[in-house]
Amino acid sequence: MQIFNTLTRKKEPFVPVREGKVGIYACGPTVYNYFHIGNARPFILFDTLRRFLKHIGYDVTFVQNFTDIDDRMIKSANEQGTTVDAIAEKYIAEYFKDAQALGVLEADVHPRATKHIGEIIAIIKKLEAKGLAYAVDGDVYFDTQAYRANYGKLIGQNLDDPMDFALWKAQKPGEPFWKSPWGEGRPGWHIECSAMSMKYLGDTFDIHCGGVDLIFPHHENEIAQSEGATGKPFAKYWMHNGHINVDNKKMSKSEGNFFMVRDILKEYDAEAVRLFMLSAHYRSPINFSRELIEQATSSLERLYTARNTALFNREHAPERAMNADEQTFAERAKKAVEAFDAAMSDDLNTADALAAIFEHVRDMNSSLTADSAREAIDAGLNALGTMTDVLGLLRKDFDATPDEVKALVEQRVAAKKAKDFALADQIRQEVLDMGYIIEDTPKGPMVKKA
Ligand SMILES: [Zn+2]
Repeated sequence: MQIFNTLTRKKEPFVPVREGKVGIYACGPTVYNYFHIGNARPFILFDTLRRFLKHIGYDVTFVQNFTDIDDRMIKSANEQGTTVDAIAEKYIAEYFKDAQALGVLEADVHPRATKHIGEIIAIIKKLEAKGLAYAVDGDVYFDTQAYRANYGKLIGQNLDDPMDFALWKAQKPGEPFWKSPWGEGRPGWHIECSAMSMKYLGDTFDIHCGGVDLIFPHHENEIAQSEGATGKPFAKYWMHNGHINVDNKKMSKSEGNFFMVRDILKEYDAEAVRLFMLSAHYRSPINFSRELIEQATSSLERLYTARNTALFNREHAPERAMNADEQTFAERAKKAVEAFDAAMSDDLNTADALAAIFEHVRDMNSSLTADSAREAIDAGLNALGTMTDVLGLLRKDFDATPDEVKALVEQRVAAKKAKDFALADQIRQEVLDMGYIIEDTPKGPMVKKA
């Protein structure tokens, strides 16, 4: 696999630190609210990265933290008249609901900052001992001047006058606090990701990812703290996803184009949102609009229809060996998966990977019928399933037809048997009004979404 590494600013072959294993750390949400579509993009993309690395045979450990202490957490707790911990518990539970809807798998570890105060303090002590941190009135800062030769690696420039940043913040009245060698207080933001990534993945690990807005200062500071403390390289590859715009504008509360995933999912299918996020390369900006989500919705329906049709055909397929045409189809199905893998291996090119899926679906639709050999239908379905599993799509049961529609289809079969064609036509129209088409095949009626 090739990965564009922000650290070296080029595409590099992926060589894991430990053979056969991959450790990934993704910066997770600050749990003071529901997450918005800007957050959803990295969740979906890096979940897809994880799925793909598993698919090509790696043993993947995926860590995504919850930031459960910071100014916004404290503000939210004060506004809602509750504790920071209660806010964290609430929005962590809400995170899992939305993530699950979007097909984002649970991480192997979802560490919380406040449960790692000991690890955080240990790193700060190391930095202090090395002369890279200093305390002032209960606050502790990272000394960027002392670390100057190595500061600016990720952004690719040495800063003339870099700002020192807080590793530990002295307690202010009304704020939650923990005991430390520098007095009561709480950790700064950057240090939590150094502590939690190294605890679960080792001092040096494979991939650190997040949104492009985290490159500076968050990730630059993570490198400084971690490498400053251990003297060893921190993450080997840095992957950053591009921005999300809404109707070609930056998403912001003041623009009124700020969307929580929770609200989007009231209107649109979560899988369509996922497909939309995968339709652009992860490093490019992506534009969110109703029109594009609607396009993604119909693309997704094409995938479901192709699968449902193939499953219907499979049920009625004759038991016989594949003929020459079917054998070539099965070969093409294999090639489709190879094209998909090649696209994904090229710096996670999900746009090209989706193109490989749709090409395969066109082939399935034109090559397979209810008279095809079961083995050929299986070759088509298996290729489709392999590819859509990696992208986290087609997660719903194949038979999404509502029971009322199914009952009407049965009534229509009975009506036709009784030669009551007027009733049969009436039922067909009724089903159409419900959004479904009945297609009569020599093997029986097949129901499709209109
Ligand atoms: Zn982070």
